[in-house]
Amino acid sequence: MKKLLGVGASSGISFAKPFIIKKEKLNITQDLTKDINNELILINNSLDKSKKQINEIKEISIKKIGEEKAAVFDAHIQILEDPEIINEIKNILDSEKKNGGYIIDKVFSNIYNIFSSMDDPYFKERASDVLDVKNRVLYNFFNIQIPDLMSINTEVIIIADDLTPSETAILNKDFVKGFLTNIGGRTSHAAIMARTLGIPAVLGLKNITEVVKKDDIIAIDGDEGIVEINPSNLEDWKNKIKDLETFNKELLQYKDKKATTLDGHSVLVEANIGTPDDSDSLESFGSEGVGLYRSEFLYMDNDNWPTEDEQFESYKYVLEKNNKQLVVVRTLDIGGDKNLKYYKFDKEENPFLGYRAIRFCLDNLEIFRTQIRALARASVYGKLGIMFPMIATINEFTRAKNHTLEWIEELKKEGHKVSNDIEIGMMIEIPSAAMIADKFAEHADFFSIGTNDLIQYSFAVDRMSEKIKYLYQPNNPSLLRLINATILGAKKHNKWAAMCGEMAGDVKSIPLLLGLGKTGLDALSMSASSIPKAKYLISKIKHSDCIVLADKALECGTEEEVNKLVNEFLKKLNIKL
Ligand code: PEP
Ligand code: MG
Repeated sequence: MKKLLGVGASSGISFAKPFIIKKEKLNITQDLTKDINNELILINNSLDKSKKQINEIKEISIKKIGEEKAAVFDAHIQILEDPEIINEIKNILDSEKKNGGYIIDKVFSNIYNIFSSMDDPYFKERASDVLDVKNRVLYNFFNIQIPDLMSINTEVIIIADDLTPSETAILNKDFVKGFLTNIGGRTSHAAIMARTLGIPAVLGLKNITEVVKKDDIIAIDGDEGIVEINPSNLEDWKNKIKDLETFNKELLQYKDKKATTLDGHSVLVEANIGTPDDSDSLESFGSEGVGLYRSEFLYMDNDNWPTEDEQFESYKYVLEKNNKQLVVVRTLDIGGDKNLKYYKFDKEENPFLGYRAIRFCLDNLEIFRTQIRALARASVYGKLGIMFPMIATINEFTRAKNHTLEWIEELKKEGHKVSNDIEIGMMIEIPSAAMIADKFAEHADFFSIGTNDLIQYSFAVDRMSEKIKYLYQPNNPSLLRLINATILGAKKHNKWAAMCGEMAGDVKSIPLLLGLGKTGLDALSMSASSIPKAKYLISKIKHSDCIVLADKALECGTEEEVNKLVNEFLKKLNIKL
């Protein structure tokens, strides 16, 4: 048995065999082949094997993501069947007489270089298909197993260096019982996706992809961040799972109740979502609205800029599903660690401080306009809030808002119906905005505090960094003062203030968030799976006590002091958490 400790990023307990995703380094040499005919047979075998695999993945993905999106695999098959490519392989093999790995690499890389140098987005997209196909054929040529997430059909724990949002989006919850990664922390996107899907996860394990072997049994506790490889007592784990299931069932009693403290103060508890499908299960968790719809996934999971109609359908779906509750859609928050297949960001020294989110949109007005038009058209299907990310100055906010109003007028002139009560607000994720929230509140209808980034920018700590994660301090008094200023600023102008960063769903922060600014936040938006526990905790505390706690915390100097106060506060409640 081997025990490891990482960052508990998504709660839950499970055990299963590992599914290891390791990007193997291929050893491509220029060695000559001993037998050209045999080399050609080996190359053809790897082409055939690749075709067979892609057809299988295509079948599975049609069921999971639909015919239209699965069409990408047709493009892969076309590449493998292209007679010109097959001829080129023969010609180069005949003339250079080198080994098959080299030949495959050379032929596919040539095509990739031609496509990727073209300006046409269609060919740029084909270039990434060629790269995918090249890697698959090479892996098959060298007989290396290819980890296909789509094909998982038994219970597994995924082990990877990191998982991208699009990789996580295709995971099947019925089979994926957890995931472990080398890098990342509580606010990395792999963690956020894990919580959205309700899959336990432990991240930041440094070298888990090296430590775990394919026949191991892996047990994971996503609350404590504990991982056991080949646990000596599996019965203990089975009991822990049973206890957790019982506790989760108890928590579900709170899901349909309002989140009201013992002394009658209510706060809205809402969900963060990444895709329209996420809104299907919100009711079962007791969500009271969508506090953050991260629209960037719509762009990231696409092969091209999503059209106005495509976006309209997604927004309409979410608004209709939640038509009695507010749905806050965040406009495109791209850049930083969120990239697009079809748009190349210039390289920057500090992409998190660079050309991203609202900065990108204000510089690419056609892209921004398409999204706002889609949102405004969908607004009649429910109650919409439009929220701009990464606002640093009032000028940025007013420019974004004025464009939005102008495009709404344009739509009305075209004869489209648009709701008259769209709220236009902003995220508070940069200290410059939190500090003068009272000034911003003259212009914005609401605030939602994005602590994932607000912490990153306040402490100058990369939210993905493993080595300096000690600086990632949600309960640090300096952050609490920024939240306090945000709430007071909003209240001064009768606006509402919410939080949609991960801190909002953390039981160690919730009592503080209810007491800051005396009124506390109006809404807490979190991964849906965290909602029942948050409601349960809120129903066990007094608002007046939260105010006292928050006042004391604001006077502390360190996060440790605040955590001590919070721990004492929670201990006195005498409840399981
Ligand atoms: C945040 O920064 O807190 C936030 C909610 O946005 P994201 O995690 O998508 O950057
Ligand atoms: Mg953010």
